[in-house]
Amino acid sequence: MRTIIEPFRIKMTEALPVTTRAQREASLASAHNNVFLLDAEDITIDLLTDSGTGAMSARQWAALMQGDESYAGSVSWRRFESTVREITGFKHIFPTHQGRAAERILAATRLKPGDIVPNNSHFDTTRANIEYVGAQAVDLLTPEGQDIYSDARFKGNMDVGKLERLIETKGAKAIPFCMITVTNNAGGGQPVSMENIRSVKKTLGKYNIPLVIDACRYAENSYFIKENEPGFADRSLMEIAQEMFSLADGATMSAKKDGLANIGGFLACHDDEWAEDFRNMLILTEGFPTYGGLAGRDLEAVAVGLKEALELEYQRYRHATVDYMASRLIERDIPIVRPAGGHAVFIDAADFCPHLKPSDFPGIGLVNALYLEGGIRAVELGSVMFGRVLPGTKEEIAAPRELVRLAFPRRVYTQSHFDYVIEVLDLVWRQRGAIPPYRITKQAPFLRHFTAHFVRGDVEPC
Ligand SMILES: *Cc1c(COP(=O)(O)O)cnc(C)c1O
Repeated sequence: MRTIIEPFRIKMTEALPVTTRAQREASLASAHNNVFLLDAEDITIDLLTDSGTGAMSARQWAALMQGDESYAGSVSWRRFESTVREITGFKHIFPTHQGRAAERILAATRLKPGDIVPNNSHFDTTRANIEYVGAQAVDLLTPEGQDIYSDARFKGNMDVGKLERLIETKGAKAIPFCMITVTNNAGGGQPVSMENIRSVKKTLGKYNIPLVIDACRYAENSYFIKENEPGFADRSLMEIAQEMFSLADGATMSAKKDGLANIGGFLACHDDEWAEDFRNMLILTEGFPTYGGLAGRDLEAVAVGLKEALELEYQRYRHATVDYMASRLIERDIPIVRPAGGHAVFIDAADFCPHLKPSDFPGIGLVNALYLEGGIRAVELGSVMFGRVLPGTKEEIAAPRELVRLAFPRRVYTQSHFDYVIEVLDLVWRQRGAIPPYRITKQAPFLRHFTAHFVRGDVEPC
């Protein structure tokens, strides 16, 4: 059959808020034109993030009820540990309350000021945890990976030549470990090929540098490998995931992504010395090693979710939803990052609004238009999130790209929801000349996108 259906039926519903244009105008005004400051009850379709926003299965809800809340050595921990070990093969496994807790423990125990950690692209919490201990986070994406419109298949790949030059110039001692993020969230959810992970590992092996996988979307990446990398078509997603992890010395994971859970994560490794340090830090900051920062019931839900994410029918449907939206937008000549990644569609807001300069924040204009037109929440990844003000001046330094991300929560929205999003985008696209510039009136010194206040730049303040 050509129609790829949602491989589930719905046995519980949650009402979507439906609002009028006048209500949305009032809500956005009281949120100072920043969708991060909206109340969720004022949003009809929330595409802010795919993190922790997924729907759990009946099997996960049933497992939740089996949660063993013993402080130490709970049954739920054993189930969690054996599932993570089956998929990753790691000797030591530590549950954490989410991905950044795993990153924090890794950075705090393995890095010192001046160290360097290469990655294809660091996710923002990974970068922040590395920089927090005084080390340097370096991105080593390939040239195709940096090109928005290149149709290359594995745009998340690390540039192995650049990696080798970095090691040669800085010295292996300065690099306590290297990371690779599958899929590459910061770069549009683009996948990394098995061949690339293998050659990164081979290069690192020459210098005895360990490889740590940022595994948040390991199952989506496994599906991309199965579909697009020669030699993997007949392999199961589990086998592909196992092979990926077999190339690594450790992993950090946010179960809020491919754990199909609303909270959770883990840190894993083979090395006994690393494990000893991780365990001590875990006890200090997360909890006893058999629960980390989680309740027994969360461990149960994650254990089931990690396996469900590897079901072929689920991944086929998941990728079909992203491709469906991407191809409908391409048909309309709406400029998006290509090919579509695993968890989101990224719109190029600079191309969408050629009448706006980066300092007019075209991404904010587009995000706000989507909300006003259809009650849809997206997120700007452009000069508000990644740009900054030149110190001592009011001059804005633009980000390299003005993107808007529509992230897909897992198993939450149906095809008709996406048809609605496409219809709203189509309308906003046809009226794009009317998208106004925005100015910042209040901002924080760090991570300003979360709390900034904006006003329309085309209306005189009264
Ligand atoms: C979400 C994410 C993290 C951090 O995980 P949290 O659970 O949000 O702390 C790290 N790396 C990548 C690639 C992510 O997408």
